[in-house]
Amino acid sequence: MPANFKAELVACFGQPVAENPTGAMQEAAFRTAGLNWRYLTVEVPPEKLRDAIVGMRAFGMQGANLTIPHKVAVIEHLDRIAPDADIIGAVNTVRREGNELIGENTDGKGFLRGMRMNAEVDPKGKRVVVLGAGGAARAILAELAMAGAADLLVINRSIRRGEDLARDLASKASAPIRFQPWSNTYAVPDDADLLVNATSIGLYPDVNAMPPVDLRRARRDLLVADVVFNPPETRLLAAARRQGLATLDGLAMLVYQGVIGFELWTGRKAPEAVMAEALRAALQLD
Ligand code: NDP
Repeated sequence: MPANFKAELVACFGQPVAENPTGAMQEAAFRTAGLNWRYLTVEVPPEKLRDAIVGMRAFGMQGANLTIPHKVAVIEHLDRIAPDADIIGAVNTVRREGNELIGENTDGKGFLRGMRMNAEVDPKGKRVVVLGAGGAARAILAELAMAGAADLLVINRSIRRGEDLARDLASKASAPIRFQPWSNTYAVPDDADLLVNATSIGLYPDVNAMPPVDLRRARRDLLVADVVFNPPETRLLAAARRQGLATLDGLAMLVYQGVIGFELWTGRKAPEAVMAEALRAALQLD
């Protein structure tokens, strides 16, 4: 066999990006799969995003992740957008198909895979309460709607943002979605099957912050999930566990969005356990 020293490239573009741990997880996966692929974590300011995508094409790169502030802005530079990324209105993953760069969104899909694999809960027919109406909430709600959740309730502090999200998803995804403004403490109703904190409350360095929710009326089989992964043990999840409720942390979503990205780029099954372990090590959690 002739020698082949050519590496395939994937990158993460963001600003700031230095603390993004995804590269550690993907590089471990490439090594385990025996692939001569590299994942580069690259700081790209907003005014250079167009050039970065032109560079991706020039280098024949296999794909990319987009993070703050590029998830919406990147769309106009791509050739096509996957239907769910179009509904969500944001792209966190780019994959190559021939000469085309296609926008995907794996955040919500990663959340759902974590729910199925780690918590063993299927979203179909479930009644869901989501705290927050930002990018993470939007991605999770869109995928829950497409997976057949029975009822979606958005609770958000900013009324405008919550209303816009509910209206968008009702019209674009025919989602059974309602919005309720978040004033005072929100009492989780006894018919909810899943509660998701999709706000940044509890994120480092504000680790003692807790979303103002009351879990006392919650049913015993409520699953409480948090998108915050730094730290993965949030005050919300600790409170839920004290009450005997099942929990799902933000690491699951982060690992599985990476797993799905790996599979989109390489066409291979991802080494999930290796990726989860690499992520924990990168975040110094063990
Ligand atoms: P956005 O800025 O788009 O949205 C933030 C949301 O949090 C808004 O709904 C905002 O409400 C709400 N919020 C923030 N602070 C408060 C507060 N003090 N009280 C009430 N509501 C508040 O952020 P993203 O959606 O992109 O990210 C949210 C979180 O999800 C982050 O912690 C991020 O790290 C995490 N994330 C995790 C991923 C994973 O893989 N685990 C993937 C992507 C994100 P309002 O509209 O009223 O301002």
